[in-house]
Amino acid sequence: MIDKLYTSNCLTRDEMLQLLNNLSSEDADYLHERARLLTDQVFGRKIYIRGLIEFTNYCSRNCVYCGIRKDNTKVQRYRLSEEDVLKTCAQAHELGFRTFVLQGGEDHYYHNDKMVSLVKKMNDLFPDTATTLSIGERDAEIYAKLYENGANRFLLRHETIDKNRYAKLHPGMSFDERMECIQTLRTLNFQTGVGFLIGLPEQKITDYVDDLMFIKDFNPHMVGIGPFISHKDTPLGGAENGDVKTTLIMLSIIRLLLPKVLLPSTTALNTLSKDGSYSGFNAGANVLMLNLTPSGARENYNLYEGKTIIDISDGVNLNILKENMRKKGYILDMSRGDYNSSMH
Ligand code: SAH
Repeated sequence: MIDKLYTSNCLTRDEMLQLLNNLSSEDADYLHERARLLTDQVFGRKIYIRGLIEFTNYCSRNCVYCGIRKDNTKVQRYRLSEEDVLKTCAQAHELGFRTFVLQGGEDHYYHNDKMVSLVKKMNDLFPDTATTLSIGERDAEIYAKLYENGANRFLLRHETIDKNRYAKLHPGMSFDERMECIQTLRTLNFQTGVGFLIGLPEQKITDYVDDLMFIKDFNPHMVGIGPFISHKDTPLGGAENGDVKTTLIMLSIIRLLLPKVLLPSTTALNTLSKDGSYSGFNAGANVLMLNLTPSGARENYNLYEGKTIIDISDGVNLNILKENMRKKGYILDMSRGDYNSSMH
């Protein structure tokens, strides 16, 4: 079945279930090897670098797993000014970054006009640079304005495709609305990213199968997945964390289902395993997000506990990373790295 995935990029729901239910550790090794081989064939050894700016941790939502949820009164809230974001971008642009990812809670301040204005300024100042947004749900009309003013990509994980589980995890939110947002983003021509959490309490293999089938069917440009990591000041505080092995298996299957997809080796994965980023690359990931959030702010962007940051405060660090990646057989690539549907 792994060979079938490799050659046809497709499995039926039953086959997927059978594969996941019977995967030995040798099978998993073979799965990772096939996924990496396919990644090499499409992208070579390049890993695309993104600059992540966590620009606000104010949030009006209450996702039960998330450390910056509204009801967490222990978190110190911050919001970078437009000026600070642009300054951060300027420094990173100088270092060669050509993709900025603005991520944050659903902050009233940056909800509509202020968000559009920030995106427009970024686009005016750095026209050769891609802007990715990871700012949650907005009205279609705001998404459209963001796109018109220069935002190119949007990450909005579906989190879980199981409607009941979604409802339990996201009090006051609606699965259908999230899905509608995702559809809208794609219709507006954003390069669109979806994704799910791994290892949530009570999550079962059939849930992963459904998430994978959705991802194959939706055919997104990007997929962000990572292990759930508990945060003590949330309702899921003390719950068991998601595991690295399952995350790597999911990465490889997603790569085999969607050969051209942009697939990050995420911060959450890197947090749970020492060589997390590289194990992600070896399993078929081809994107790495480096943290550009100014210190003083980044310490308070704790979606989960123990976040491991890959710190890029100057060019020297970037050179060290480049050299380390080279030693592991990967090439750090600072270009925009847009989704390219004509790759094969
Ligand atoms: N507010 C934005 C950005 C969310 S943060 C939005 O709604 O899209 C980006 C991602 O971090 C989320 O989509 C979620 O999948 C992940 N995340 C949040 N809390 C987490 C936790 N405790 N462990 C692992 N990942 C988490």
